[in-house]
Amino acid sequence: MTTTSKQELLVGGVSIAPGKRKQIEIPVAKLFDYTEMTIPVEVIRGKEDGPTLFVSAAIHGDEINGVETIKRLLARKKTLARIKGTLIAVPIVNVFGFNRNIRYLPDRRDLNRCFPGSDLGSLAGQLAHIFMSEVVTKCTHGIDLHTAAIHRNNLPQIRACLNDSETERLAMAFGVPVVIDSNIRDGSLRQAAADNGIPMLLFEGGEALRYDEKVINSSLRGILSVMQAIGMIAGKGVSLSQQKKEAFIAKSSYWVRAPHSGSLRVSKQIGGRVKKNELLGVLSDPFGGGRVEVRARSTGIIIGIVTLPLVSSGDALFHIATFEDAKEVGDRVEEFDGFIEN
Ligand SMILES: [Zn+2]
Repeated sequence: MTTTSKQELLVGGVSIAPGKRKQIEIPVAKLFDYTEMTIPVEVIRGKEDGPTLFVSAAIHGDEINGVETIKRLLARKKTLARIKGTLIAVPIVNVFGFNRNIRYLPDRRDLNRCFPGSDLGSLAGQLAHIFMSEVVTKCTHGIDLHTAAIHRNNLPQIRACLNDSETERLAMAFGVPVVIDSNIRDGSLRQAAADNGIPMLLFEGGEALRYDEKVINSSLRGILSVMQAIGMIAGKGVSLSQQKKEAFIAKSSYWVRAPHSGSLRVSKQIGGRVKKNELLGVLSDPFGGGRVEVRARSTGIIIGIVTLPLVSSGDALFHIATFEDAKEVGDRVEEFDGFIEN
């Protein structure tokens, strides 16, 4: 792992000197009409040495909540003017999907299954390669912002590989109540970062194609808290009381799938605590008949929920995380929810 030093920092061929802040457009590939597509990047380099952190969003082009989070992070001009080390902000990684309001690349590839990519690969592979070589491999730490997929909603949560102690420290510092110790998926940015020895967090929260104030708030606070934990910003002047509270690590999680097709009336909300066999919702036919109950398999907290109530048999409806003490986590989620609403 390297830290920022007085040596030259080049991103997209642009040099950023200590104490400077620059917006850079990294070329990717042209559209059919030869419109240039570029990845927008802002680099903020402190006068003093320190870690190099990337914060990215919209690897899935329709997951726009993190784009707004990064805008608000970049608006904290006073805080960022005093950082130690370097912040590389990449509000939109999948610029192709973002411009079409879709998760994927134009060829339907999922960018987060194409890392580390290659300069001779598919468009997704090339984009992954550019992001890795121009941003990720220049960093000591990373945070990647996501939302649920279309027609789903996620409770603010961190997903990280906690068998790395620095990653675990960042996950705890981020300060959302729920942390999922999740295995790395093949071809994901998280795996590519881990292969390069870069501790990285994946934040999940909210819905695709929507801004959610609570989620934006919690992710912004989380990023600032991690910056504090790794010594980029001083503790004072940043209100982070929420982050002092404990985060709970999920033992595991499971999906409750629709046992039948129909329209779903849900009886539990995101963040809610459920007991084994508790009623989560009811499926029925267009007349309200043929009722089929949907129940929890075991006690836990709802961390993901379907938002489109028209479902086919087998569709994933509720994502439930299980904990040593679900009651304590439930209370903490409620408290957290109240806090970030203010
Ligand atoms: Zn995503």
